[in-house]
Amino acid sequence: MADLESFRKELREYLEKNAPVGMRGAAGLEEGYWGGRNPKLPNPDSKRFCEMMAERGLTAPTWPKEYGGGGLGAEEVKVLEQELGRLRLPAPLTGFGLQMIGPTLLQFGTEAQKREHLPNIIQGKIRWCQGYSEPNAGSDLASLQTAAVIDGDELVLNGQKVWTSYGDLSDCMFLLVRTDGSAKKQQGITFVLLDMNQPGVEVRPIKLISGASPFCESFFTNARAKLSNVIHGLGNGWTVAKALLGHERNMIGGLFGGGAGRGPKDSGLPKNALAELARAYVGDKDGRLNDATLRDRVAQLSIEHRSFLLTMQRNADGLKAGQRPGPESSIFKIYGTELNQRREELMLSIRGPQCVGWEGPGFEQSETDQTKTWLRSRGNTIEGGTSEVQLNIIAKRVLDLPD
Ligand SMILES: Cc1cc2nc3c(=O)[nH]c(=O)nc-3n(C[C@H](O)[C@H](O)[C@H](O)COP(=O)(O)OP(=O)(O)OC[C@H]3O[C@@H](n4cnc5c(N)ncnc54)[C@H](O)[C@@H]3O)c2cc1C
Repeated sequence: MADLESFRKELREYLEKNAPVGMRGAAGLEEGYWGGRNPKLPNPDSKRFCEMMAERGLTAPTWPKEYGGGGLGAEEVKVLEQELGRLRLPAPLTGFGLQMIGPTLLQFGTEAQKREHLPNIIQGKIRWCQGYSEPNAGSDLASLQTAAVIDGDELVLNGQKVWTSYGDLSDCMFLLVRTDGSAKKQQGITFVLLDMNQPGVEVRPIKLISGASPFCESFFTNARAKLSNVIHGLGNGWTVAKALLGHERNMIGGLFGGGAGRGPKDSGLPKNALAELARAYVGDKDGRLNDATLRDRVAQLSIEHRSFLLTMQRNADGLKAGQRPGPESSIFKIYGTELNQRREELMLSIRGPQCVGWEGPGFEQSETDQTKTWLRSRGNTIEGGTSEVQLNIIAKRVLDLPD
């Protein structure tokens, strides 16, 4: 206990002294900092804040110290979160490096691979993207066809990936390739890390109905990856791929539950933003919303959101204590994403006709933004594996039901 208090004291002093002024109060106000060779700065101080936190391993607080992580236990991480919260500082770093490939490397990487890649992730130097899906391999991922053959100490890649989130902003990709076309489909797959800054890699953004372009098609024409960047050996990629998906599903569930990873902009606490929004549009009397049906819907969704938040928090505590995500991460994924879609729909109906605008006078910025976030939320139940696929996993691997 005394150790924990001295940790708190020292951390508080470090943050008070070093946290850039521009980051204080910024928690929940903007998208997170993703790092990279040419980083996008949601806030001018994001990079500096990330660097000062990384100096003490606090961008990856639970990762081992020998790779640059914080080496903290679950109780210390809680203190870190409380102290960040005290100054309303956001998480210093986010992204697929920290939340997907990093934890996977800790599990499957060789010592040399961990030493090469983990410090760069922790320091926010490299931004990662995920090359799993292909035009004919989504839910049936093991049907992937991007081929790789050995040439000296490299793999030469040819093929195409699709729906590569932030492929145009990333430096490196972790991807699945087929290294043995004659083996059973899961067995011919290899998991490899690729530097995207080379002539054999072309990335084209895809535009969505929301108007945003968060993902890309990626083409490989004799692209080269080092054999030393194959994770867990040639032909063993399927095991690595499934473990990474566990981390991904936890991350996606956490985005809407406020557990692992960055919390949602509105956690429902201490102010209930849904209720505030409803109050602004339908008014209230003596603190009660004027529309009784809406009041009921807001209360119900807030209860569900709060329960999910607490469950995710319990799960996040387990992960901090070294537990690995299992197939139950599918439950968080499906529940969190569907809850978020219902929440977006409720916000849309609260705003009513004000939410059918796209741009121009007559609409507040927050109203046109709402239309776009509602459209974006449709993808939540597809990315990281569709809801139907999650139900299959829960049936087989959690409930042990027959095929
Ligand atoms: C916003 C967003 C971001 C994404 N980011 C990435 C990324 O960074 N990297 C990446 O590799 N991929 C990414 N994806 C791709 C995503 O993983 C795939 O879209 C997803 O796995 C589904 O594959 P598909 O689109 O080919 O659909 P399909 O697999 O063709 O599925 C079509 C429909 O059939 C249903 N279906 C298929 N098989 C079954 C079954 N066995 N049982 C019941 N129903 C079934 C599905 O549920 C779905 O409704 C992203 C997708 C989205 C929407």
